[in-house]
Amino acid sequence: MKNFVLFGKPGSGKGTQAKHLSEKYELYHISTGDLFRKNISQNTKLGLLAKSYMDKGGLVPDEVTIKMLENEIKDNSKSRGFLFDGFPRTIDQADTLDKYLHSINMQINATIALEVDEKELISRIIDRGKTSNRLDDQNIEKIKNRFNEYNKKTSTLIKYYKDQNKFFPVNGHGSVDEITKRLFDLIDSFNPL
Ligand code: ADP
Repeated sequence: MKNFVLFGKPGSGKGTQAKHLSEKYELYHISTGDLFRKNISQNTKLGLLAKSYMDKGGLVPDEVTIKMLENEIKDNSKSRGFLFDGFPRTIDQADTLDKYLHSINMQINATIALEVDEKELISRIIDRGKTSNRLDDQNIEKIKNRFNEYNKKTSTLIKYYKDQNKFFPVNGHGSVDEITKRLFDLIDSFNPL
């Protein structure tokens, strides 16, 4: 079983590329952002709680996010591997994920980071906001807050995974197809899959 983390700033294309990767390598795609949005649209208790943080561009508290993620792994434990998208975003989430995977004889094999500069990201997010109905995509202050959260809490994970020799940056500029090809080439270079 192979498990990957897809890593990158808001708007870097994780969701788009995760679809291609999960199809090609038969990975079960877990997007914490999508899971929260599903809960919000179904008006669950978790959704209501998550919404108050997401709407401002902040992170949902770790204990809530981690519980949701563990349930999702348990419910899909028969899959060939997982592709984590938008998780982990804090050192605590990464530590908990490592310990949890270890307890069920699994591990993260690689963290793949989509690298895109912030100017390009802002224009992508504003564009997406025109059609996505996502409140956090439609306001520059909220977008900036997401970058701040990333810079404060998430960027420290680069060192965390580099220290484990599991960090692989990929250029996230260019067309969707070009980036998909870069990702496929990288994963195919891991031996053995
Ligand atoms: P993006 O990466 O473009 O910001 P996501 O759909 O991955 O979009 O996440 C949207 C929002 O969901 C985040 O801004 C945050 O509020 C919440 N969220 C998603 N994943 C996590 C996480 N692992 N921990 C805490 N909050 C999260």
